[in-house]
Amino acid sequence: MSESDKKKSRIAELEKLIKKHQELYYNSMAEISDGEFDRLWDELAYMDPENQVLKDIGKDKSDGFLKAAHILPMGSQAKAADPEEFLAWANKQKFDEFVTELKLDGASLELQYEKGFLAKAVTRGDGVTGDDITANARQMNGVVPQLPEPWSGAVRGEVLMSKAVHKEHFSDKANCRNAANGLMKRKDGAGAGYLDVICYDAAPLGLFDMNEALNFPHGPEHPFDDETEKLKWLASCGFMIVEYRVFHTAFEVIDYRAKVVDRRESYAYDIDGLVVKAREPDIEDMKRLRPDRQIAFKFPLEEAASTLLGIEWSESGANYTPVALIEPVRLAGTTVKRASLANAGILRGMGLKIGAKVAVVKRGDIIPKIEGMIEDMPDSKPVEFPELCSCLTKLVDDGTRLFCPNPDCPKKALHRLEKWISVLGIMEFGTTIIKRLFDSGRVKKIADLYSLKKEELAELERLGDLSAAKLVDNLEKKSSPGLAEFVAGFDIEGIGVLTMDKLVKAGFNTLEKLRMASVSELEKTEGLGNITAANLKAGMNLLKNDMDTVLESGRLVIKESQTERGKLSGMSFCFTGELSAMKRSQAQALVKANGGIVKSSVAKDLSYLVSNDSYSGSEKNRKAKSFGIKVIDEKEFLALLS
Ligand SMILES: [Zn+2]
Repeated sequence: MSESDKKKSRIAELEKLIKKHQELYYNSMAEISDGEFDRLWDELAYMDPENQVLKDIGKDKSDGFLKAAHILPMGSQAKAADPEEFLAWANKQKFDEFVTELKLDGASLELQYEKGFLAKAVTRGDGVTGDDITANARQMNGVVPQLPEPWSGAVRGEVLMSKAVHKEHFSDKANCRNAANGLMKRKDGAGAGYLDVICYDAAPLGLFDMNEALNFPHGPEHPFDDETEKLKWLASCGFMIVEYRVFHTAFEVIDYRAKVVDRRESYAYDIDGLVVKAREPDIEDMKRLRPDRQIAFKFPLEEAASTLLGIEWSESGANYTPVALIEPVRLAGTTVKRASLANAGILRGMGLKIGAKVAVVKRGDIIPKIEGMIEDMPDSKPVEFPELCSCLTKLVDDGTRLFCPNPDCPKKALHRLEKWISVLGIMEFGTTIIKRLFDSGRVKKIADLYSLKKEELAELERLGDLSAAKLVDNLEKKSSPGLAEFVAGFDIEGIGVLTMDKLVKAGFNTLEKLRMASVSELEKTEGLGNITAANLKAGMNLLKNDMDTVLESGRLVIKESQTERGKLSGMSFCFTGELSAMKRSQAQALVKANGGIVKSSVAKDLSYLVSNDSYSGSEKNRKAKSFGIKVIDEKEFLALLS
């Protein structure tokens, strides 16, 4: 099937699916979640923005409800799936305080008030207009028909069915949200009295008009310049309000999330995350389609509570990385005893203690992670951080990394040898052999490998003539690495083959050019940054003699950068998500072997984003869409090579 035929048939399929699920939804028989429905909708809108189905359903398909415009547009929300994504967002915001609300899993509703009287209740709809379900809303618990003051504006809330009501009256519906969605939009209004509306936001009429906002009729004491005052005001008007807390640091939010996750079953309503925002609302930001000053900090899909039994410090080169040892717990079908902790800074930030109750999370096949402290226990003990490296140098803690700063640290030297063997892909030089050569003092530096003779290798314990000869042969086989492999093999902090490839493509394609370049010249390379550039410069200086000695041995030369054109030359590729036929590293190697460029992030000049799930709302997919970059799946990628 041709590309355009494929597209046509997918569009037809989407039209059918959207119509079908819309129908089911309005008959209170929804088979898929709102999120899944939105994805179908977004996919169709992306493939065919002018499609008639979008227009029909978006405007007046619904079973007779009138359409009404929102006062406060309902944009989409930025999302963080785990503490690291959340920290990245929080570090950018630099808030003094984080207002943290439970994220209720229901359907959004806007209550519109005119001079204190409820005038309209409007569903989310397309975010700009929705269904006017005022008659139903009047029956719902928590909807205030008349405010204590003649206020005009919008109150935002979530329509929910409590777990208790669901269990007692609607257990035939898949979950509380589906049941609530069905009832809220029944034309006859039956059952709306089972629903609760919990409110979390409000905006007076005219707030978005800057001039009017400044002279707001409520005077200087009006509550709309502070999120918590706003909630208190809502409560004073008689609304049920969302549970909220105020925290001063991002890590407090992370631990609070772990606590809520742990007891989420005990809440009266379904909760699927936290909403975190600044204490001071930013009107300009609220106007954006996707406000940046608030984020949905989602709950993990699979989590369990366990006890932290200890910390093991895993050593890789100069780095010391914490690994949590926990009370064994069943999670996603496996028993988990060890969990990753990202780095020393996150361990410290969460305030973890030995003996404390922690939240353990597992997503798909990834390594389990600790995502926060649920509760400190009375007899818990502080985590001890190692202070000295085995070379007796004092370790340095830069906030995210705990490492040995000694340039001559034996760990670093051994790691460098291992990295060299691995980057160049030299066969049969396993860690045991390297370690033996290293411990014996015969091979301390990369250059020492190239003075090895068959005879002396053969004398090594358990290594016969044959194996010794093979080792030397294997060294020889890889005696002409490219510049990228050569430099990356020297194990400079943050400098891998991918980064080096970028530098080579950017014109630093000989060792001489790389050495002559200043930090400010290097950092202009796409995706490099100042710290990496400075690390590279320092590493090149420090290792200059070592590199020269390797080259002077005459047993290794740097291959000049490829000029012949491969099938993928001139094209760049970025991969996201899982591949089915191969590992990502293998796919990246294929690109390079065919003259293409591998990129780790999506920028305007990218040729292709390879994704097997192009409609997952991932950052890379979104960026690719916004730049109009072609998104292809694994099959299409392989087709380019055949
Ligand atoms: Zn050391």
